[in-house]
Amino acid sequence: MTSVVYPGSFNPITYGHQDIVERALGLFDKVIVAVGTSSDKDPSTYLADRIQLCRAALAEFGDRVEVDGFNVLLVDYVRSKDTRFIVRGLRTISDFDYEYQMITMNREMDPDLEYVLLPTSRQWSFLSSSRVREIAGLGGNIDEFVHPAVAEYYRDGGV
Ligand code: ADP
Repeated sequence: MTSVVYPGSFNPITYGHQDIVERALGLFDKVIVAVGTSSDKDPSTYLADRIQLCRAALAEFGDRVEVDGFNVLLVDYVRSKDTRFIVRGLRTISDFDYEYQMITMNREMDPDLEYVLLPTSRQWSFLSSSRVREIAGLGGNIDEFVHPAVAEYYRDGGV
């Protein structure tokens, strides 16, 4: 069985992330969604909440998707999951710049790592977690961007 790790902040998980998970399941037997906090991204939503929202949003995939929190080096985490594959989504050229830097650094630490970069479906190419937080924070409707469990979380006053 071949697994792939999909790391990110998922702050919160959006339909863009879900699309990447679904497409990665077409390539791998199992997707491990690894929820972490990158220092240059807003970590405002509690890790436990972000994990729980990922679980709710991805429940339809059953045990082919595992959701986990992580706070160690990504290269070490991936090895601890008995795989060497990482998947990330790509929206724009600026995503590519960022990803390429991460890939190069991580492969410096572990040359056997293999990255799979999936271009986003056009429908979600404009969508980002930070925009969703911004809209939700101003009381806007985020139903078309996120799973109902995520929308409900923000309606109930999630940060
Ligand atoms: P990070 O803080 O690690 O960038 P994110 O949760 O913002 O974490 O993103 C995780 C991954 O999901 C990244 O590879 C990112 O490019 C991808 N991603 C984010 N939004 C979308 C989207 N709308 N469509 C496809 N991929 C996306």
